[in-house]
Amino acid sequence: MLAGTYTASVTSPHLYELLGFVLGLLCGSFLNVCISRLPAHKSIVKPRSHCMACGHAIRWYDNVPVLSWLVLRGRCRDCKARISWRYPAVELAVGFWFALCVHKAIYTMDNVPVLAVGHGIGEILFYCEAFVALMIAILGFLLIGLMVMDWQTQRLPDAFTLTGIGIGFFLTCVQAFFLAPGVGDIVLNTTHQLRLSSPGSFASQGNVFLTGPEALILGRIAAIAGAALILLVVRWGYKALRKRDGMGLGDVKLLAMIAAFLGFGETLLALFAGVIAASVYGIVLLARRRASGASKLPLGSFLAAGGLFSALLGPQILAWYMGLLQ
Ligand SMILES: [Zn+2]
Repeated sequence: MLAGTYTASVTSPHLYELLGFVLGLLCGSFLNVCISRLPAHKSIVKPRSHCMACGHAIRWYDNVPVLSWLVLRGRCRDCKARISWRYPAVELAVGFWFALCVHKAIYTMDNVPVLAVGHGIGEILFYCEAFVALMIAILGFLLIGLMVMDWQTQRLPDAFTLTGIGIGFFLTCVQAFFLAPGVGDIVLNTTHQLRLSSPGSFASQGNVFLTGPEALILGRIAAIAGAALILLVVRWGYKALRKRDGMGLGDVKLLAMIAAFLGFGETLLALFAGVIAASVYGIVLLARRRASGASKLPLGSFLAAGGLFSALLGPQILAWYMGLLQ
């Protein structure tokens, strides 16, 4: 989007959020197909969507996100079997998530339109923000799907987790490729300038240990490995103590996927938030005597929820926390 066309329509940026919402509804509709079929190892392409009870193919006008479910009052047109509220709920969740991502892309944290920040700077800022928002939109799509799949089937399909790690890492590399020179450089020993390279070259500005792109990509590889390692150690520890598996490898891959998109700090926050939410849920179940100490919690669902939380508020919370430490 060009700055000129944008400033003309700055009075109605909600139009873009609405477009994001509609696109999210459509993606949510596709996500429902994935949720229904992936854990059962079925193709997501064939056959066409059909009623789970009577097998009738779903007509195109009965396949409009949310609206069709409301019009049909949550029942199949042919056999009147109940259609789960999960379908419109997932569509709405992805719709709101995409709208939020568009909002993040077009506004700064102080709710000022990004392109109004100033010519040149605003435009660069917009492209950076838009790219990060795109990454968060994709991550949200994957996390909402994994959250529902783990809750309903206790499965976290590799088609989402491993593919997600690949997509997240690839997008990080794209981000690194377009990083402006000097941005994100890690400079060691700033007080003593060694100037090892020839005069006038970029690398001679201080003692550059890693350039911005190197730091971003290597940091992300370390984050993915670190995230997987944390949960692998917990898994081994649990197995050694209790002599049974307490956590699936799916949870390990899920956390590594969050790290591929967000980096290490945000992943620790997601893990922290997910474990707290799971603990609160477990304590409530125990208190209501609905579970015993041997019951299984869908930890992946809580980690996915933690990932959504961290994707949305992670940078602000981490900045606040780093401020406390100083
Ligand atoms: Zn039916």
